[in-house]
Amino acid sequence: MKGKTVLITGSTSGIGLGIAEAFGRAGANLVINGFGDKTEIETIRSGLEKTNGVRVIYDDADMSKPSAIEGMMDRAAQAFGGIDVLINNAGIQHVCSVEEFPVDKWDAILAINLSSSFHTIRKAVPAMKARGWGRIINVASAHALVASPFKSAYVAAKHGVMGLTKTVALELAQSGITCNAICPGYVLTPLVLKQIPDTAKARGMTEEQVKRDVLLHAQPTKQFVTVEQVAGTALFLCSNDAASITGTNISVEGGWTAQ
Ligand code: NAD
Repeated sequence: MKGKTVLITGSTSGIGLGIAEAFGRAGANLVINGFGDKTEIETIRSGLEKTNGVRVIYDDADMSKPSAIEGMMDRAAQAFGGIDVLINNAGIQHVCSVEEFPVDKWDAILAINLSSSFHTIRKAVPAMKARGWGRIINVASAHALVASPFKSAYVAAKHGVMGLTKTVALELAQSGITCNAICPGYVLTPLVLKQIPDTAKARGMTEEQVKRDVLLHAQPTKQFVTVEQVAGTALFLCSNDAASITGTNISVEGGWTAQ
């Protein structure tokens, strides 16, 4: 990945941070993005630079705001001359029955988990086309393929990401640019840790029961997926061996959707 520029949305935590670390190790320059404590984010940014001898910039654009996304993409293009690998990863979750689902949460999940990918893709594609090479990787979810109760907005947004992935892949099929989704199962990141109490409340269970009977119930391996396994899959999608993989998903979910 030496000499390539990789932009990862939502990379101050969890899966996105793991992907940033993996691409940094592989020699790529990085644009990282996401919320969090400014001092901690600067420690992450400078650490990635020093450890890997690459250039890393941080952009605090809010993925729920199209104009902020546009600004981030313009700043990244100015700094590096264009994005070679775009990884749409930022995401949030809210667990609640459909009839009580807060309207503002629905709007935020659709904006961050789905529409932000449209806005980054539309801005990244022209430079990729000009170079004749590009990789677009959407971090979707097993919930892009199957549903679970109490996650209407998340499941709808992630299914939407699959549709966007396929459409963009078809449009770019002859441009040297691939577009794919990675569909992870449960990874123990802050996003999952935060939904355990809400799921417990919605289902009338203890938090231990949620881990065992809800989360890992879906995964025949009975193991959480690791951040490193998702990051490794993203790196593979950037290799020459993956040049003919486009418009599809790679499931990294311990057999969840085989059932
Ligand atoms: P996380 O909460 O650890 O990280 C989410 C990242 O997105 C953070 O950096 C956060 O600051 C950022 N973010 C949130 N809202 C944002 C906004 N408005 N603008 C910019 N950045 C924003 O979560 P994670 O588990 O690492 O999730 C990353 C992606 O992986 C999400 O799209 C999620 O849906 C997907 N995913 C996660 C799991 C899992 O089990 N953890 C499983 C399948 C898919």
